[in-house]
Amino acid sequence: MNNLLLAYAAVIGLIIGSFLNCFIWRLYKNESMLGRSYCPQCRHKLSWHDNIPLFSFLFLRGRCRYCQKKISWQYPLVEFFTALLFTLSLAAMLKSGTYTSLLLLHNWLFLFGFILIFVYDLRWQVVPMIFVWPLIAVIFALNVLLGASFWMLLIIGLVGALFFILQFLFTKGKGLGEGDIWLGFLMGVSLARFDLLILALILAYFIGAIISIILLLAYKKNLRSKIALGPFLASGAIIASLYGDKLLNWYLNLL
Ligand SMILES: [Zn+2]
Repeated sequence: MNNLLLAYAAVIGLIIGSFLNCFIWRLYKNESMLGRSYCPQCRHKLSWHDNIPLFSFLFLRGRCRYCQKKISWQYPLVEFFTALLFTLSLAAMLKSGTYTSLLLLHNWLFLFGFILIFVYDLRWQVVPMIFVWPLIAVIFALNVLLGASFWMLLIIGLVGALFFILQFLFTKGKGLGEGDIWLGFLMGVSLARFDLLILALILAYFIGAIISIILLLAYKKNLRSKIALGPFLASGAIIASLYGDKLLNWYLNLL
């Protein structure tokens, strides 16, 4: 029974991942979600069989059927990771016996949001506030419905934001942008626990440090080149939400 549910989650994840790719592009271009999908390079309308998650990319060998230009790796990667994370998230809920449809909605929206922020900030070095503000409102409301205290959520969100406000002031606004302050707030209200928020921030900076060292060695990027913070914050938040309790237990056992 559970395996069937997990397979179902993977298929939904693939479809939502495909939608997410389209949504990211139209958010950037400020276009409506109505109208058929098209190739971003030649703008030729795609038929349904050009648009099957993962499989079309494989069959077309990563090239557009109409203009032969390369399709970005973003497309299959986002589809794959959305499916993987949706499945892992459902598996965790089933295992811990905490599954409710409301919690599923919260967790999948959380993943949808942070995958979007990851890709958007990585590609264009900006956090799309037009998406993040409504996301904060909806996630906040869902967490209150799930039983979190309104004031506690607000305080955890403000602590997340404060972390970046202080950094913003100390670096005189050079180290990070206003978007990162809102991301701190989003991380707080969506993780809804102080320990998970702190863990997510530690993970984000840890991953950021490792990637920076790799980039420095591989491409000799100088230390002044700007690396967007959003993808690291999103990674930290996603790992903390999926494996936070395991990581915290492991750490406490070390002490
Ligand atoms: Zn094309």
